[in-house]
Amino acid sequence: MIIGILAVQGAFIEHAKVLAKLNVQTFEIRQKRDLDKKMDGLILPGGESTTMVRLLKDLDMFNSIKESVETGLPVLGTCAGMILLAKGLTNSNQNSLETMDISVERNAYGRQLGSFFTHNLFNGLEIPMTFIRAPYVHSCGQGVETLSIVDDRIVAVRQKNQLATAFHPELTDSTYVHEYFLHMIIKK
Ligand code: GLN
Repeated sequence: MIIGILAVQGAFIEHAKVLAKLNVQTFEIRQKRDLDKKMDGLILPGGESTTMVRLLKDLDMFNSIKESVETGLPVLGTCAGMILLAKGLTNSNQNSLETMDISVERNAYGRQLGSFFTHNLFNGLEIPMTFIRAPYVHSCGQGVETLSIVDDRIVAVRQKNQLATAFHPELTDSTYVHEYFLHMIIKK
């Protein structure tokens, strides 16, 4: 198995480290031709979604990624990656790939609570979660499964081939979210 990690901006190295721990091969996606490589799954990391969208467009990767996800490529979006996947943004008019039937509120925890660490359930298992100026899921469509709720807010969701977390699973020592993603790929 080999996973492509979008590496134009943000926390991409940490995802590669987690997958290395799980003995899964990865490669960085920095330019359009990297998208021609065979991949079993794609990771859209955390970072700054506004910048990522701009870079994806400048590098002419926006439409190819959107199409791949729409035609079934398994994708994990974390934090800014969740924002990239969302069909709607409640408090911003920036573009996104709009592949996942969720509406997301950006920077949803305000400035004081910009970053925090907690333990909570993800798919029924308690795991550590690091939130950094995170979004949360404001509303989601019928085909979307909620996998985690923190303080009454939905922070992890799945819709078919797409998995999104508002927190950063790659910044803790738990590999559970990545393992869940790998299972999605295997069961495809
Ligand atoms: N606040 C960032 C955004 O809106 C996301 C932060 C993150 O990915 N840690 O894109």
